[in-house]
Amino acid sequence: MLEDKNPQRTPLEELGEFGLIDHLTKSFTTTQPSTIKGISDDAAVMEFGDLQTVMTTDLLVEGVHFDLAYAPLKHLGYKAVVVNLSDVSAMNAKPTQITVSIAVSNRFPLEALEELYAGIGLACKRYGVDLVGGDTTSSTKGLLISVTALGVAPKNDIVYRNQAKPNDLLVVTGDLGGAYLGLQVLEREKEVFKVNPNNQPDLAPYAYIVERQLKPEARTDIPELLKELEVKPTAMIDISDGLSSEILHLCKGSKVGCNLYEDKIPLDPQVISTSEEFELNSTMVALSGGEDYELLFTISQDDYPKIKGNPHLSVIGHMTEEKEGAHLVTRAQTKIPLEARGWNAMKS
Ligand code: ADP
Ligand code: MG
Repeated sequence: MLEDKNPQRTPLEELGEFGLIDHLTKSFTTTQPSTIKGISDDAAVMEFGDLQTVMTTDLLVEGVHFDLAYAPLKHLGYKAVVVNLSDVSAMNAKPTQITVSIAVSNRFPLEALEELYAGIGLACKRYGVDLVGGDTTSSTKGLLISVTALGVAPKNDIVYRNQAKPNDLLVVTGDLGGAYLGLQVLEREKEVFKVNPNNQPDLAPYAYIVERQLKPEARTDIPELLKELEVKPTAMIDISDGLSSEILHLCKGSKVGCNLYEDKIPLDPQVISTSEEFELNSTMVALSGGEDYELLFTISQDDYPKIKGNPHLSVIGHMTEEKEGAHLVTRAQTKIPLEARGWNAMKS
């Protein structure tokens, strides 16, 4: 986990807008050969040769997408970058640059923004992307963060959502459900803290799932792995909203149906034990939980030998004709239509 402590509280007015931008961005250097001009001019300049460029953006609003009571600012900065890099990876592209725009109220001292940018900086370093610009403005209430990410890939490598075919295999990376359960643990501890502020939560038994929630990683390794394996997915998407919702996106985009097998869904042991503790069905957690930032993709059956046994990849189902619809095949061999359900549908 990332440390998040700075006792000073310097008011933002002391720096002014340009002083603030300078202060926050001075430690950022650029390393991508494609970055010609980063922060400093009216616009950044990039040079990608004959590669195609992908671009994606996300807006995070305090009180809507994050709660500063349990999301430390450093983690938030890291996560704001990661969610965008995940979208770039879902195009089978390599992230190269980001911009970061913030709106802050005067409730935030300089030290808070330093924490935010420390997290942004860590993500830039970890993933080798350059911060090349942004915008800074005030807000009357709360904090808004918008990150835009650019990435590149050879034209023929880019994977869309709309080319999955019946009989293609459905594959997912990593394991699912951890981020949602991590949030449940953090929310429970927040309530405990309200009643007894001296109570120090013991999060050790939940370390993996809390980390999945607070410090998710983007699967930028997967496009590289797929290249090594000589597999080009027919369709791909990242799992931000929960497995069932993303499967339905792939089905709709590609005009196919799907059979998803409950017993194939990869779950970490901590997801299983914590689901039991919260009296949640772990399959429902994986289906509807969201924020796992794993990749979900389809491949031709011919490519199965190339991915077979790979520890990062699980085959969880196959695509069908569109008219057959999208279903979960349960352990008891019953077929249930997949629905994009909200979190509150998960109480078992
Ligand atoms: P402009 O007036 O053209 O919008 P700014 O004065 O807002 O330019 O920004 C100056 C430079 O600092 C630009 O390169 C801009 O992209 C960058 N920048 C502004 N705010 C941020 C931020 N929050 N994070 C990173 N870069 C920023
Ligand atoms: Mg500006």
